Amino acid sequence: MSSLVAALVLAISSIALLGAAPANADACYTWDRTLRSGSSGSDVAELQERVAGWAGYGVNMAIDGSYGPQTTQAVKNFQAAYGLSADGVAGPNTFAQIHALQDADCSPLHFSWAEVDGGCGAGGYSGGSVSATTVRTNLLRSMWRAEALRHRMGDKPVRVTSGFRSQSCDRAVGGSGTGQHTYGRAIDIVPVNGNNTFCNMARTARYIGYGAIFGPGYPGHNDHVHVDIRSGRTWSAPSCGI
Ligand code: ZN
Repeated sequence: MSSLVAALVLAISSIALLGAAPANADACYTWDRTLRSGSSGSDVAELQERVAGWAGYGVNMAIDGSYGPQTTQAVKNFQAAYGLSADGVAGPNTFAQIHALQDADCSPLHFSWAEVDGGCGAGGYSGGSVSATTVRTNLLRSMWRAEALRHRMGDKPVRVTSGFRSQSCDRAVGGSGTGQHTYGRAIDIVPVNGNNTFCNMARTARYIGYGAIFGPGYPGHNDHVHVDIRSGRTWSAPSCGI
């Protein structure tokens, strides 16, 4: 092979490499190393935020940047749910799957900022019980858990009817003005086109890491299921045996 041809081959393969987006990058976040048990750092927290809905029944996983047993289990369950080799180690295949589920604005594929912001039609993230930045962080965590919930139910679509509410909005709809919706930690969800049931949603939510679940039989919750990411476990949907 002449040196000219060799140079051309090299140039063409470089272009091919540049043309393919790296599997571990998108417009929202890029992981630049494999993460595993014992890893720590903000990249672990970014991972935890996206897989927390897979930690298991009743496990409300800490987003603490420390890759411990709960993170390993969550990654394993996430990998299994999406047909990947379930080794509990987050490498390129796991990051590629996360990116496939993530929009450029960091919201998960089947949920949007528009549907979780400002209750009462106001829009935005101010006027809550915490800063707008914290509200957005909490909403993102709520949306990733909702993405897990949706997939766990066989990808049956779920619609959010209320997410963040300012304190005045919360009071206007009969809330205390300081509840979980005012922190961005809560969403109210309903099935779409009747292809799911409130009870199935409430029962499945027990596996998704929600601290609170209120559904059918709990006062005021026969027409939606409320899920939020508070700590502890406060579940009530008496009509569903919860
Ligand atoms: Zn609610």
